[in-house]
This record gives sequence, structure tokens and C-alpha cells, in this order.
Amino acid sequence: MRRRVSIFGSTGSIGCNTVDLLRHQGGVESFDVIALTGGARVDLLARQARELEAEIAVTAYPEHLKTLRQALEGTGIKAAAGPEAIAEAAARETDWTMSAIGGCAGLEPGLISLKHGGILALANKESLVTAGPLMLATAQKYGATILPVDSEHSAIFQALVGEDISNVTRMILTASGGPFRNWSHAQLAAATPEQAVAHPNWDMGKMISVDSASMFNKALEMIEAKEFYQVDPKIIEVIIHPQSVVHSMIGHVDGTLMAHMGVPDMRFAIGYALNWPKRRSLPIKNLDLAALGALEFEAPDEQRFPPLRLAREVMMAGGLSGAVFNAAKETAYGAFMARQIGFLDMAALVEQVLSAEIDLCDLKSTTIDLETVLSVDQQVRIKTAEAVKLRQAS
Ligand code: NAD
Ligand code: MG
Repeated sequence: MRRRVSIFGSTGSIGCNTVDLLRHQGGVESFDVIALTGGARVDLLARQARELEAEIAVTAYPEHLKTLRQALEGTGIKAAAGPEAIAEAAARETDWTMSAIGGCAGLEPGLISLKHGGILALANKESLVTAGPLMLATAQKYGATILPVDSEHSAIFQALVGEDISNVTRMILTASGGPFRNWSHAQLAAATPEQAVAHPNWDMGKMISVDSASMFNKALEMIEAKEFYQVDPKIIEVIIHPQSVVHSMIGHVDGTLMAHMGVPDMRFAIGYALNWPKRRSLPIKNLDLAALGALEFEAPDEQRFPPLRLAREVMMAGGLSGAVFNAAKETAYGAFMARQIGFLDMAALVEQVLSAEIDLCDLKSTTIDLETVLSVDQQVRIKTAEAVKLRQAS
């Protein structure tokens, strides 16, 4: 059966892997590609749109529209630009949609896509972190299915097949530890953006790579797991596993641990979501256990990596605290990449903003709708940017 598919963020790391799998599974022979969206890499976007014969290609940035139009000339593929055009593209009916825009910008297109009642393959973890209840309620209202495309959450999803989630007593998220796993506090304080983006095991976009180095990624994933699986935050654990071969585990009431294993390749999670509830062969090499030799595990150090502690606070507070946490984190990330603050300042700033906001308003009692989430996101970005300036001045 032919399926209508769209990819939001097709030019990114997850997006390119998704295009790769569509190609591997027959490309235009198997899929009607509706919309592809990207950012500044319009040449790549146009190439993908031509190859997959998309209906529409959208760049997030109006200044790139002219180049995109030129690159698509004579193809009949519509070119468009800006957030409204991305929202309009999301409103085009699909059976399967990949949500792989980076950051909070991925929330709205994902929500709109849920209204088709099909499958939303969700790589954009920020959607669940900032607006988990809204995402789940929208999926339920329109009969849509959200499938996680984070390696950890996909691993847990797969381990849960045929199981009763009420018997799950542990959700163990594995973390590689990133490039700074063994760095001292002093070394972390001096870490540069170049060092932070160089992840040892996974080839990912810049923001998630830096978030992996700081453990903000794992913090987002703890919140993502709590929101998606609707579990007590107390059962969510993090374990450092430098080989990234065990993609996560669930523990049952009888003490059994079920793990998902494989080489570190996001096409496992994307492919599972693409073929669910079936499995198909994927162009991924087999795991050579003998060559690997050993799997290591160690407890995370929350002194050096405070985001894990902050995630627990956010999970307990619930409501809009995830939106506050994410907006502060994205702003602090931007300031770090612009060399306005140091690596450790990111967590310090997020903690500062989070505690100020939790004191200011009862985040739990506020309704979660898109406008409220986006307005909190904007306000917190402004407050965090002010805190960055104060930190620079001191
Ligand atoms: P990336 O930076 O490689 O790609 C992001 C994509 O989003 C690009 O197509 C970019 O053009 C687009 N984009 C960025 N900002 C935008 C905006 N404001 N408006 C519209 N489009 C915008 O990122 P990635 O690594 O592919 O990650 C994408 C999402 O998937 C993130 O939420 C990330 O946390 C999640 N994720 C990624 C991985 C991974 O291995 N890369 C793993 C798990 C989850
Ligand atoms: Mg992950």
C-alpha cells in the first residue's frame, strides 16, 4: 500500500536518515511524499524534493526562498518559506509524518500533523518536554499514533511490546556520557563549542550533540519518557554506558530486565517507526558482540552533570515547567555557542531561571495549550537572555 509521508526537518541528521530509509524502501515507487522542510541548506532540500518528487518544499527562512525556487524550477514542486508555510505544509494530509525539526520550533507542525489521525514519528523530543499532555490529548482526540524516534524511547517501546506497563518498575535510559564523560570540573568549565559538538558514538545535529555533552539531552529524555509513558518519575533511571550498544532497558516487577541492543544508528528507531507494527530489514550492520568484547555501565555523576537533577525537579513539578526548562536550555545553548558563557554556565543559568519561574507562578495549575506554551517559551527566552547578560557583566 502506498503511503503519504512528510518529513519536517528533512535536511537534518534525523531527516537525512529518514530520506535514506525511504530510498531504501522503494522511494517514489512506495511513497507519495507530500512535504519536506528544512532550513538554510536549500540545495540539499531541493535535491531531496526532486528525488522524492515531493509536492512542496519549505525552508524555514524567507531569505532562502529565491534560491529554493530556482533549484526547483521546472519540476512543478511548490516552494515556500517561513513558519506559516511550515504549518501550512503540516496541514496537508499524510499517513506518516516524521517530526525532526530541532527544538521547540518542532512543536506546532507536529501538533498539526496529529490531526490527520495517522502516525507521527516523533524525533522532536521537545514536543513532549514542553507540551506532553497537549501532544497526547491531541493524538487521542484525532485517533493518531505517536511513535517515539529517540533511540532510548524506541528501545523501551519495543521492549514493551506484549507487556503490561503497569508491571514495569524501572525505566533505565542509557547515556553514552558524551565527549566529557571523564572530564574534571575545571576541564568542563573551559570546554569549547568545538569540543562539545564532537560526540564519540552518535552523528547528530549540533544542539543535541552539545546537549549530550552536558547531559541536558538525557535530562530532556527523562522528561520525555515520563510524559510519553505516563509513568511515575521515580521509576526513571539513567545509567552511563559508553559503548551505546544497549539503547535502553525496562525492568519488570519480577526483576527481569529487557534491553534493546544494536550498533548506534538512528535508523533502527526511524525504521521501526516507519514499518511499525511490522519489522523490515534495514541497511544497518549487525552488532559484532565478540569484537565488542565488553559492555560497561557506571552511575552518572550529578555533581558534574546537574541537568539530571534538574530534570527530576521538572518531572515532579509537571505542567509548564518543561517548557520553562527547554526554553532556558535552548537560550543558554545559543549563548554558549556564541561564546558568551562557559559550558557549565548553561546548567547554572537553567537552574537559576527554573527556580525563579517555579517560585513566580504555579506552573502546575496552568492549562497547557499551544499559545500558552509558546508564550512561556518566548518569555523565558527573554529572561534567560537577560540572565546571560548579567552573567557576562559580572
Ligand atoms: P539537526 O540540527 O541535524 O536538524 C534539524 C532540522 O530542523 C534541519 O532540517 C533544520 O533545517 C530544521 N530546523 C532547525 N531549526 C528550525 C526552525 N526554527 N524552524 C524550522 N526548521 C528548523 O537536528 P537533528 O539531530 O536531526 O535533531 C532533530 C530532532 O530530533 C531534535 O529534536 C533532536 O533532539 C531529535 N533527535 C535527534 C537524534 C539524532 O541522532 N540526531 C536522536 C534523537 C532525537
Ligand atoms: Mg536519545
